[in-house]
Amino acid sequence: MSESAITLAETAPSGPAANGGERPPSLIGLGREALGARLHGLGVPERALRMRVSQLWHWLYLRGRTDFAEMTNVSKDLRGRLAGAFTLARPEISAEQVSADGTRKWLLRLAPGDDGRPGPEIETVYIPEDARGTLCISSQVGCTLTCTFCHTGTQRLVRNLTAEEIVGQVLVARDRLGEWPDAAPDDPTGLPASERKITNIVLMGMGEPLYNFENVKAAMEIAADGEGLSVSKRRITLSTSGIVPMIERCGAELGVMLAISLHAVRDDLRDELVPINRKYPIAELLEACRTYPGVSNARRITFEYVMLKGVNDSIADAKELVRLLAGIPAKINLIPFNPWPGAPYACSDWEQIERFAEIVNRAGYASPVRTPRGRDIMAACGQLKSASVKLSASARRRAGA
Ligand code: SAH
Ligand code: SF4
Repeated sequence: MSESAITLAETAPSGPAANGGERPPSLIGLGREALGARLHGLGVPERALRMRVSQLWHWLYLRGRTDFAEMTNVSKDLRGRLAGAFTLARPEISAEQVSADGTRKWLLRLAPGDDGRPGPEIETVYIPEDARGTLCISSQVGCTLTCTFCHTGTQRLVRNLTAEEIVGQVLVARDRLGEWPDAAPDDPTGLPASERKITNIVLMGMGEPLYNFENVKAAMEIAADGEGLSVSKRRITLSTSGIVPMIERCGAELGVMLAISLHAVRDDLRDELVPINRKYPIAELLEACRTYPGVSNARRITFEYVMLKGVNDSIADAKELVRLLAGIPAKINLIPFNPWPGAPYACSDWEQIERFAEIVNRAGYASPVRTPRGRDIMAACGQLKSASVKLSASARRRAGA
């Protein structure tokens, strides 16, 4: 799809050693209260906690520092105690792939477990588009669900990511994009010209975020914090396969934008494509969307619909999709299927996607087609991501689709 040239850089390990023995606990991923408790544990008196927490927060999330020694407004003595007790190390970058259009993918190795064995790997993808840049992050290693068109679904779940590891993806991306106030990107190709490189976050990487809600919530609170990373919740989108009982909490407690992996308009087909549908069928899912806290025409729910040739892409399906979503403030994203080795599906023909999109369009949904950027870099390692962006008509023509 994308014709862009790709460079692959195998970077030298920059994070915790794969078998470096016991690793001190990290301060990344803790809320202010928990951070205060850690400081208190190091002897910071109650009355100074607020100020000290603010100072640390500033260094961690506004300045992106990983070395306590650089935190110049913190007393030398406390810096020493912090350095002796905690780490601020990032996940290690195992590989970085950069497309000429600026799309980047990082393969990150997580810190080793207590047994000292190398940590598992996850993927994080950055997609720049004009003035905006979207970071697609993972919430689990693998996924317990087994959607038949998804490569992640074929991988054994290793575990939920911690809040540290979820926030860590944002921090690594900001490191590599040079998004800290006193930094600059190594390679500015394709990046937004503005200082903000990551304007949006989507939880659309590996895993089902609503099965790891507490950690996702803790991490997104940090990402949205106005004194730190400052990615507003209106610019954070959580994509779920439809874990109905958690949807209400997601809106009420976290308040981020919601995306639903719908992919089929009939229960029999959705049971097959997205097997969690057997537990939470379409009617229940859509009811949870209708009542999603905060949903409005200004805060629409995105419905993702992967285009599978001859499976869910008929004109009747398109009409039913429009009918089903009537009354829900919705956006529709048609996602051309991203094939992977051994996948039992093919991507719908472009003409069919256009016919399908036309019906969706006529029903009042603008620009419904998204296509994965950097599809070639995903294919290079046989892995799939849904990180995708709207493709303009002219870009589609250029891609020859
Ligand atoms: N587990 C969550 C979020 C991660 S998947 C969910 O399912 O929503 C993010 C999106 O990528 C989902 O809409 C998913 O259905 C879609 N997706 C998965 N595999 C895909 C593929 N091979 N081609 C296109 N989209 C895919
Ligand atoms: Fe898991 Fe989402 Fe893939 Fe389904 S589509 S297997 S829920 S990651």
